[in-house]
Amino acid sequence: EYLDRIVDRDSEICAFLSVDAEEALESARRIDRARENSEKLGSLAGVPVAVKDNLCIKGSSTTAGSRILENYVAPYTATAVQRLQAAGAVLIGKTNMDEYGMGSSTEKSAFTTTRNPWDTSRVSGGSSGGSAAAVAARECVIAVGSDTGGSIRQPASYCGVTGLKCTYGRVSRYGLLAYASSLDTVGPLATSAVDAALAAQIMAGVDRLDGTSLPDDVPDFVGMLQDKSGASLEGVRIGVIDEAFEGGIDDQVAEKVNDAISVLESLGAEVVRTSLPNLRVATSAYYILAPSEASANLARYDGVRYGERNEDPENMSSLYTMSRKNGLGEEVKRRIMVGTFALSTGYYDAFYLRAQKIRTVVAQDFQSAFEKDIDLLVSPVSPTPAMGVGEKADDPVSMYTQDILTIPASLAGLPAISVPCGFSSTGLPIGLQVIGSFGKEADVLRAAHAYQ
Ligand code: GLN
Repeated sequence: EYLDRIVDRDSEICAFLSVDAEEALESARRIDRARENSEKLGSLAGVPVAVKDNLCIKGSSTTAGSRILENYVAPYTATAVQRLQAAGAVLIGKTNMDEYGMGSSTEKSAFTTTRNPWDTSRVSGGSSGGSAAAVAARECVIAVGSDTGGSIRQPASYCGVTGLKCTYGRVSRYGLLAYASSLDTVGPLATSAVDAALAAQIMAGVDRLDGTSLPDDVPDFVGMLQDKSGASLEGVRIGVIDEAFEGGIDDQVAEKVNDAISVLESLGAEVVRTSLPNLRVATSAYYILAPSEASANLARYDGVRYGERNEDPENMSSLYTMSRKNGLGEEVKRRIMVGTFALSTGYYDAFYLRAQKIRTVVAQDFQSAFEKDIDLLVSPVSPTPAMGVGEKADDPVSMYTQDILTIPASLAGLPAISVPCGFSSTGLPIGLQVIGSFGKEADVLRAAHAYQ
């Protein structure tokens, strides 16, 4: 049924970069046989799951949206994906994304732009735009995404689905093609907080193959939501981030998010105003730190070890240069240059080090809010609903401003969720962001679930 839906819808939406129908049907049949034999089935048995194309699946094409990896076939499977498979998920395909996660609209994919299922003249958001659109168009039940500065939450908000960015380290990054390693996280997109909770719970947990993986036990996210108290927010203190509603926020976004906050209050939450004074500088710091890490991480794409190699180089140096010149997109090159510059002698202190200090200050802002007995923070996900295809594609700075409200939680490594909370007058989805303290996905999911 889902494969048929992809055939029907995806030529217009372009959520998928590859679909392996044979493999999907085969694994669905395997699960059917297991069911007939009364074998014990996993909690995702038979559920169609799509995977962002920066996560490796053994034997499948994994491009990260980049020309340089067009013919790359992964020799192993990412831990998060392998855990979903072990729970019975049927992997149906790989979803489109901005190249290496660098973008907010999927227009920076080397292959295609994913359209927003609610209005195909609009973008799906990014960089996990393919995953968000696939869920929104019901081309899969759950999709896996990655979020470095907002790449799960922002497309979820644009496409009207639920997207969870987990605490940094909660889900293993093993098998995720690195963008900015100190910020990269893996998480689910789904149509409800319960489904997101289930997928997160399965993917989460310590993995010795990722040195930054959290050793903590994973709480029973789903059980907590099913608990009788799951629908009430009695005793929960929610801080509304003042700065998130200042300057540049679309009126309809502010209105719908404020309505959602009133609903949280009616469910028993105590709502207070709170300030994150450094919220607005977080974006500037991020656009130094993420490119700096990317410039190091992407050095491996030299045409020798992975992907496309220039066939006619004059010497070793031109082999690297030509392979990268032809294989990497403009936005990726821009980030590599910014990062290389920020890390270079003479500029390091002025840019990289300063950005690291801002990162610390932003994390401290969150900490002081949570120390004031605030359990959760709320804001819009994005300042506007989905933009038109092409509207901001050639204006990187304007594109970067789409991330101002999602980047702060990324810098601090905190869990955050994007929950649909209404529509603009033109019928575009709007998202509420709920941010929790470190390791508290359960609180974030509880608020999202109660709201839904
Ligand atoms: N849009 C942001 C960027 O371009 C965030 C992307 C992400 O989270 N991967 O870096």
